Amino acid sequence: MTQDSRVLDAVIVGAGFAGLYAIKRLRDAGFSIQAFEAGDGVGGTWYWNRYPGARVDLECWDYSYSFSPELQDDWDWPERYPTSAELMRYLNHVADRFQLRESIQFNTKVVSAAFDEQANLWKVTTSDGKTVKARFFVPATGVLSVPKPPEIPGIESFKGESYHTGRWPHHEVDFSNKRVGVIGTGSSGIQVIQALAGKCKHLTVFQRTAVFVVPAKNHPLTPEMRARVRATYGERRAISRLTRFGIAVPMAYESALDATPQERQRKYENAWENSQLLGFRMCYGDILSNEAANETVADFIRGKIQEIVKKPEVAEKLLPRGFPFGTKRPCLGDTYYSIYNRDDVTLVDLRATPIERVVAEGVVTSDGLQELDVLIYATGYDALTGALTQIDVRGINGRKLTEKWADGAKTYLGLMTAGFPNLFTVTGPGSPGPLANMSMSIEQHVDWITRCMEYLREHTFDRIDADGNAEASWMQHVQEIVARTLYLKANSWYLGANVPGKPQVFLPYLGGHGTYRKKCDDVAASGYEGFVLTRNAANESAHTFAPPVMPSTAGGAA
Ligand code: NAP
Repeated sequence: MTQDSRVLDAVIVGAGFAGLYAIKRLRDAGFSIQAFEAGDGVGGTWYWNRYPGARVDLECWDYSYSFSPELQDDWDWPERYPTSAELMRYLNHVADRFQLRESIQFNTKVVSAAFDEQANLWKVTTSDGKTVKARFFVPATGVLSVPKPPEIPGIESFKGESYHTGRWPHHEVDFSNKRVGVIGTGSSGIQVIQALAGKCKHLTVFQRTAVFVVPAKNHPLTPEMRARVRATYGERRAISRLTRFGIAVPMAYESALDATPQERQRKYENAWENSQLLGFRMCYGDILSNEAANETVADFIRGKIQEIVKKPEVAEKLLPRGFPFGTKRPCLGDTYYSIYNRDDVTLVDLRATPIERVVAEGVVTSDGLQELDVLIYATGYDALTGALTQIDVRGINGRKLTEKWADGAKTYLGLMTAGFPNLFTVTGPGSPGPLANMSMSIEQHVDWITRCMEYLREHTFDRIDADGNAEASWMQHVQEIVARTLYLKANSWYLGANVPGKPQVFLPYLGGHGTYRKKCDDVAASGYEGFVLTRNAANESAHTFAPPVMPSTAGGAA
């Protein structure tokens, strides 16, 4: 093991949207930093997710950095929803434009991070056997970066090619004339399925849970549209920062149940035709909080599926049931349902005929063997906590983070977890994270973290930790907010329900991006209420604050 003699201000983990911005922001604030990235290039989630059809399902004018007007001005988005390849071009451009690569060590994983309480330093060990010390540890590791194994017996015995959507190879995969199977029908599965239908000899979709898929209505952007996007960035971002989802879409407050069936039909038709990810959720104020209201949307979409899919027995299998609309993340797709009208696409309903095992020739369900040449696992992620708990993180008294989070992750504001001083999470559990515009949430978190580090520097504090009581109140608040919604009625990755044995705690904060942003700003303005700020022993004693007041979530939960 080699010790890097430098003592840095911060070690950053990851070079995706969050890591790149953290490098830029902390460096600009005069901090000495080093970033480590497991991949051989920048891009984070987009570096790994290169499967056919991969693209973001937020519009480019929302899913992009806002910190630099010059960057906004000189980048032209070709389509409404950028592809993974386009996002990689963008993030590489950002890395070059701001000379970020010089702060990144690629092909290097952070293996462990241990806090030295005497020195108030993190000792970070990397996969190349080196260690480095830093005052702050900033894992910008993403919420969906650790693929979940498919938990199917025999996967190693398959003799064809197999891939996970979240670890797609960087070489071209040839599907022509091949029998392809896709296991999983979440956002990744829906995208890869649409891209491969008609591009291979036969496509077999293994579906355990039918999801709601609404039209993407993706389209190229004309020069006029691009000019309009650029001209309206400022106004749009300013509004977005105040909203529930971090996106400038109009909110609705009335109940779906107060509208006539005709009015609802009109609104839902409009949402279907002019779709975007939040379209249906924005139709009425109680879609995500009232089961009967929610069912009106669910029914409408089920009707659309029955219209599009010609074979009634196939349509029946595709109808989402058993969880409210929106509580498992809805997917976007323009051709998803119509591909099941093709003769070269087969849907296998795993509820009726479960997978028993994978064998050399393909997948065995209770109905027999499906022979395959390529098997794609679109089986999701150990979301929200997986990337951080993969690192051996030890805080005060050598306590392991995995031990502290054994019953579910606990943080104060999704920014710090008590007992692990000077460790900042970016869009961590307990923040709106994946239930708001990720790029905006990332900028908000990194800005907050940078200002906090500047404050500590200015006021000569050596250590900041979350207060245990403040953390407990915050996590209770997170649970109170979700309890007002329908989200707990679905086995989603928001809850950890997709990973066998993972504690089931709903982790994203549903109070809304705008409310949350204000809460974080108020905490900072108060001198970091709910945090404990200390100086090294020789200096002064602890500086603590009363437990925080929870934000009121006017307008209800997300
Ligand atoms: P996911 O939503 O967790 O979906 C995983 C799918 O695999 C589900 O259909 C799941 O079925 C199925 N599955 C898991 N284990 C299985 C098993 N052992 N046997 C059979 N089926 C199994 O994962 P994802 O599609 O990768 O998406 C995760 C998140 O990433 C999304 O919700 C979204 O936030 C983000 N994402 C975004 C985009 C975009 O912006 N366009 C694209 C891709 C992903 P069950 O539902 O029954 O568990």
